[in-house]
Amino acid sequence: RDSRKYAGIVEDCCCDYETVNSINEEVLHPILQELVTTPFFRYFKVKLWCDCPFWPDDGMCRFRDCTVCECPESEVPEPFRRKSSSGLSADDMICQEGKPQAAVDRTIDSKAFRGWIEVDNPWTYDDETDDAEMTYVNLQLNPERYTGYSGRSAWRIWDAIYKENCPKYPSEEFCQEKKLLYKLISGLHSSISVHIASDYLLDESSNLWGHNLELLYDRVLKYPDRVRNLYFTFLFVLRAVTKAADYLEQAEYDTGNPQEDLKTQSLVRQLVYNPKLQAACPLPFDEAKLWQGENGPELKQQIQKQFRNISALMDCVGCEKCRLWGKLQVLGLGTALKIVFSLDDQNQLNQPLQLQRNEAIALINLLNRLSESVKFVHEMAPTAEKVVEGK
Ligand code: FAD
Repeated sequence: RDSRKYAGIVEDCCCDYETVNSINEEVLHPILQELVTTPFFRYFKVKLWCDCPFWPDDGMCRFRDCTVCECPESEVPEPFRRKSSSGLSADDMICQEGKPQAAVDRTIDSKAFRGWIEVDNPWTYDDETDDAEMTYVNLQLNPERYTGYSGRSAWRIWDAIYKENCPKYPSEEFCQEKKLLYKLISGLHSSISVHIASDYLLDESSNLWGHNLELLYDRVLKYPDRVRNLYFTFLFVLRAVTKAADYLEQAEYDTGNPQEDLKTQSLVRQLVYNPKLQAACPLPFDEAKLWQGENGPELKQQIQKQFRNISALMDCVGCEKCRLWGKLQVLGLGTALKIVFSLDDQNQLNQPLQLQRNEAIALINLLNRLSESVKFVHEMAPTAEKVVEGK
């Protein structure tokens, strides 16, 4: 059943389900699992205690499994704590030579990396450069899993995201651009639900954790479009990572530990220039097909504004661990959008790509989460369907 439902090309993408599963399981997942444990990718800078701009009554999390362990200052890599001196400011950004008509260019300047920057991402709401309120979190110590966060607070966030910021498109809607935001958010939502199902508190008294396949079925598998959107989001983020291959390959992964940093660099290279991936799925998503209509620039600006609202909503997530992963993954998606649609405001010239260190960390960790979700869904769907049928 599973193979019939998810056969052929992933909607609006360029690779089929079978290829995505094999390339993920054989190549991407093992590399990403190792990459996210490296010192560079495991420390994420985040503002955890935030004022919610929409519902000021929302307080901190009440659930035990929600709290986040912050890192003691001494644990954070020294170069992360230093103010970047090579970082470029907004004034340093220069436009590349004019590109031919196509609104979106598939390439990124091959002399790509010029230092991590300190400029805010136009797709996200957070002032990520405001160091005073930021703390570092070791992601390895704070896995995304079941926290018990649910009820009105969780519901109204998802409701606000879908109703106000990315309304479900009518089924006859053929415009890919309008579907894009909904599909990305729905794919992320599926991935969050998959992580809840894969690491669930089965018995509180004995603190027993394990898979909850009924939950996996009820929240994700029962709705084929949620599975499709998960694959779509995975391919979109993978496209961003491969589009930024030169940049990521040349980037500095300095944490003050040369041996570890060389390993990080080598894993990044294996990920972004992977011959198996290039052979099987060279263009996971084709952005050059988007924004070509007359109202392309307005559409892009509207979607950027909606995405910023979604990013602001993350400050209202009433559970600290969920907020951590919500913020990381929304920043990761914002970074993927920034890379895939790297255009200036006039929609004409490509800006040379510039990333903050934290954006690269969010992007890779998001890709890893999506890769885990795709693998879990692929491996567990037949068993989960049997469990539900047997009830
Ligand atoms: P919800 O998942 O809350 O869904 C609400 C409604 O959205 C559904 O009724 C359905 O109509 C629609 N919907 C559901 N899935 C999709 C989809 N994929 N695509 C389109 N529409 C959909 N809980 C944890 O235990 N751990 C976490 O790490 C965690 N992180 C979170 C991060 C964020 C940003 C938010 C907002 C919530 C998080 N939660 C987390 C809570 C979790 O997502 C659920 O809200 C909660 O478990 C209650 O689930 P539910 O069954 O009521 O449906």
